[in-house]
Amino acid sequence: MVLSDYVNTYGQYLLKKYSQRVHKISLDASFTCPNRDGTKGVGGCIFCNNSSFSPNSKQPDDLSVQVQRGKDVIIKRTGAKKYIGYFQAYTNTYDDESRLKILYDKVLAMNDIIGLSIGTRPDCVSDKVLDILQKYQDEGLEICLELGLQSSNDKTLEKINRGHGFYEYQQTAKKALKRKIPICTHLIIGLPDEDYQQNQKSLGDVLDIGTNGLKLHPLHVVKNTVLANQYKQGLYRPLTECQYIEYAANLIKQTPKDIIFHRVTGTVNKEILMAPIWCQKKWDIINGITKQLSLIL
Ligand code: SF4
Repeated sequence: MVLSDYVNTYGQYLLKKYSQRVHKISLDASFTCPNRDGTKGVGGCIFCNNSSFSPNSKQPDDLSVQVQRGKDVIIKRTGAKKYIGYFQAYTNTYDDESRLKILYDKVLAMNDIIGLSIGTRPDCVSDKVLDILQKYQDEGLEICLELGLQSSNDKTLEKINRGHGFYEYQQTAKKALKRKIPICTHLIIGLPDEDYQQNQKSLGDVLDIGTNGLKLHPLHVVKNTVLANQYKQGLYRPLTECQYIEYAANLIKQTPKDIIFHRVTGTVNKEILMAPIWCQKKWDIINGITKQLSLIL
């Protein structure tokens, strides 16, 4: 019994499409975020810590070095020989479009890279960025625009200092979908003052607009964040492992089968993680969700 018996996983989607394993290589292109530099807000989301993205490097290596290092690790671990460059750290569409294209092209030009995943905020995707991604898509590259939404509830988004509302997500998602650029929507389970009903509502709102993929993960309390202070003061209590497994499985059950799950849980480096500690046991969570799905599907 494995997760892909019940869930349309990204790994399986890629395996079917390319008849071989394809893995993502996480990249840090030294972007920043408009929610940190004052353009949209200051301080960033209450759970955001720079080190969550690249705990080991203050000044990231050149992209070619990062790609090669990622390939070396993945080929040893999984044998995969094709890769997707994953612009993950911060807001990877937050720059002049011509510079963005140079960075994206640089990664795409490397051997065995078959596409890109671009992680970003929904309020930071210009039409020119969509033009670039659409062109890649039309050329047959494996493209995904990963949009961090977290919740469709504007009150929650305000509470977590997200710096954008659901409206911005709607606009960007619709534009990308109209151009047939695949999108993956990030949702967090366990946000402050949210319950399972709100998680269901967020999922329903996202599905109403349409999406190609979803990423679910629990809210992490990491050091040196506003959320860490709230947690220390007893103002925020994380979900239990059982709650997370139950909520995630129920959300998966309510999702149409053609939607690809890029992730059903997540963790961060243990050096900075404060809570919930159970999220470090990634495989326990995945196995728990699989078991729960076997009972409810
Ligand atoms: S949008 Fe992302 S990078 Fe920016 S502050 Fe929030 S979590 Fe951090």
